[in-house]
Amino acid sequence: MSAELLSGTAMRREILAELAAEVQSLQEQHGVRPGLVTILVGKNPASVSYVSLKVKTALELGFHEVQESLPETISEADLLAAIEAWNRDPSIHGILVQLPLPPHIDEKKVINAIDPDKDVDGFHPVNLGRMVLGGEEARFLPCTPAGIREMLVRSGTPLAGAEVVVVGRSNIVGKPIALMLAQKGPGGDATVTCVHTHTRDLAGHCKRADILIVAAGKPGLIKPEWIKPGATVIDVGVNRIGESASGKALLAGDVDFAGAREIAGKITPVPGGVGPMTIAMLMKNTVRSAWLHCGEKR
Ligand code: NAP
Repeated sequence: MSAELLSGTAMRREILAELAAEVQSLQEQHGVRPGLVTILVGKNPASVSYVSLKVKTALELGFHEVQESLPETISEADLLAAIEAWNRDPSIHGILVQLPLPPHIDEKKVINAIDPDKDVDGFHPVNLGRMVLGGEEARFLPCTPAGIREMLVRSGTPLAGAEVVVVGRSNIVGKPIALMLAQKGPGGDATVTCVHTHTRDLAGHCKRADILIVAAGKPGLIKPEWIKPGATVIDVGVNRIGESASGKALLAGDVDFAGAREIAGKITPVPGGVGPMTIAMLMKNTVRSAWLHCGEKR
């Protein structure tokens, strides 16, 4: 039987409707609109398209949205100065610097320059540290892993005691989702294994996963026969595998989707799975930041 499709597009719609109600409450109770600045350096086509989607979503939600487009040649010092100005601006609750940055700019320095209380991407070491501590300490969770967890929770996938295998250990996906699902308490309590290129018997690990999360960036890496019947499969991979006749990029995940769909219980499509959740979580972090700036923890 074909697996249930976990649609990130549908879940995003649900989350944005909840956030729109919160934006209205913020306005009524505090006269505040969530403020988000999206900083784009250069004109990398993928970055331009990600930023425009973020801006569009923020505007639809009624945010105070500022898009700052800076030239590819901007110096590191000038970019840091621009961030510092947004750190001081009380109308801004979230600062997003679209990555990657041009090679002459040190990404770490840029991330570290963002006020942790406005770091809605959740990449600042202070927020990553808070995430590791978990529970009440956590503030802004990185958006893609937060979106994955939200998908699992909203789809009613049991997490407590589940065997979770995460393929990949990057700082933006693999490592944080592994940590988040291993935390004590609701939305966690799973038994997590994180695998990578040095793992012996990748297939063997995948085969015992109740929940298989794949973030490797390798199309077709996960074979259908590696999937436990009935498992939940979250495919984070976004791989460009060609172009359509009209020149549109053709995308595929890391999982052999057609085959896996016949074995898994639930599976995310690519595109339309984890991707839309990432933007929803960015909006959620910004609304949360606005509440926190009003002295309310939500
Ligand atoms: P990354 O930094 O390149 O990390 C890839 C990870 O996968 C590494 O830990 C690597 O292991 C592991 N890996 C690669 N090939 C493997 C193999 N054959 N067997 C086992 N492990 C393997 O990638 P990332 O930034 O996490 O992104 C991963 C994918 O997710 C990409 O396709 C990216 O486009 C996508 N992505 C999607 C979203 C979204 O919103 N949908 C967001 C972020 C990323 P080592 O550490 O040993 O090298």
